[in-house]
Amino acid sequence: MIGAPILAAVALAIPVPPPVVKTVDAIAIVHVDVIPMDTERVLRDYTVVVRGDRIEALGPAAGTSVPDGAMVIDARDKWLIPGLVDMHAHLLSDDRIAERHAPAELAVILANGVTTARIPIGRPGHLELRERIADGRLLGPDLWVAGPQLAGRSFGAVFNGRAVTNGDEAEAAVREIAAAGYDFVKLTFLISREVFDAVVRTADEVGLRVIGHVGPDVGLDRALEAGIQIEHLDEYLEALALEGAPVTHGISGLGVWRPEGWESLDHADESRIPALARAVADAGVWSTPTQHFLVTAFGELRSDEAILESPDVRFVSPEVRDELLLGHRQFRERLPSEERRRRFVALRSAVIRALADAGAPIMAGSDSPEWMLLYGFTLHRELQALSDAGLTSWEALRAGTATPAAWLGDGNPDFGTIAVGKRADLVILDADPLASIANTSRIAGVMARGNWLDADRLAAMMDASAEELGGAPLRPEIKEGR
Ligand SMILES: [Zn+2]
Repeated sequence: MIGAPILAAVALAIPVPPPVVKTVDAIAIVHVDVIPMDTERVLRDYTVVVRGDRIEALGPAAGTSVPDGAMVIDARDKWLIPGLVDMHAHLLSDDRIAERHAPAELAVILANGVTTARIPIGRPGHLELRERIADGRLLGPDLWVAGPQLAGRSFGAVFNGRAVTNGDEAEAAVREIAAAGYDFVKLTFLISREVFDAVVRTADEVGLRVIGHVGPDVGLDRALEAGIQIEHLDEYLEALALEGAPVTHGISGLGVWRPEGWESLDHADESRIPALARAVADAGVWSTPTQHFLVTAFGELRSDEAILESPDVRFVSPEVRDELLLGHRQFRERLPSEERRRRFVALRSAVIRALADAGAPIMAGSDSPEWMLLYGFTLHRELQALSDAGLTSWEALRAGTATPAAWLGDGNPDFGTIAVGKRADLVILDADPLASIANTSRIAGVMARGNWLDADRLAAMMDASAEELGGAPLRPEIKEGR
């Protein structure tokens, strides 16, 4: 995230909702066109049998029997895709509203067909949510939780992280993150080379992967050499600068707020894009562009009217909405030229297309709820943004399913594709997402760990979350910190 940073200090008790109750033993989705996302293909008129939380059988409808007593979902003229993955999902309850609202937020993510979410800046409450969802006590997306952010200094009124300024502090922080049970180490801003080297070395020792921002003190070459997983395409555009160009500040991270950051785009050489993409691919580095967020926040801009007409608005109280819109207002006060903003979008798009051509993996991340781009809604927008950047619908869908699953599962995931034995995380669509990636939002039903949520249930989940979150006040620490 690039707006106001994140946090929380107070761990509030989370009320325990009733357990998820399964009413049927097996579920058969029949006559559906399956897009399994393993290779580029569609399995037409198939039956998918789910038992417990797993896919038990998958085959042509004509030759696949439905188990006795199974609940049957007739999905003729519909499409089945794996549950979507959001690799960059912050929550309002990370900092702006009380932590007890996290389940209502997770319900919105799930109701949008996102069955797996990576929390990029974690806190202890997320670990508890991760366990409750995994063992079926809470219905929500499967969570992967990075540690509290490591940054060169603390930011903002509340800072869910740790300032690390030397190698010893960095090593201690990484060991604590591992001991606490987080899944990854997250780097954000103002990381020195010494800190970076210590983080990478210690993370390797304790068996955690490093994700996040890349800053100018580290640079892309070192980040690629270390093989961290890079968010936002940080430092990719800087790497396009001509030799000897007078670029002192780049546009990545905090640079997007500085006029000099935008000047750096004038010195970028497009002819270097293929070599950049090859270097990323050769390094085995996976990228989460968060393209929709960056394009709409800093490139094309969204009008307040457009934001207020979005479906996201009903999930925030007016004061939370105004807080989330602050970034837009502040950026417009020092707006870079339209020419530079267009170039920003064009260069990012060309880099994304080149990464795909080079075989460098691309993963979808929303960076919700920054700038009023909430949750699951924005994951669908991100798939569209990746398509707008030049990916085919299949490539974009892969960025939101199989590719992030492969990264999270470290090459052996049990989700992200549709096959026998995989976890039953599925989305039924009313229209073909390969014909238009926008069709991923035409959701007829969602299955999460074998729990079937039909359209009525999804609408009820949305309504309940809207009612709760729409009345959730902004935490006073946030107001006072401004
Ligand atoms: Zn973020």
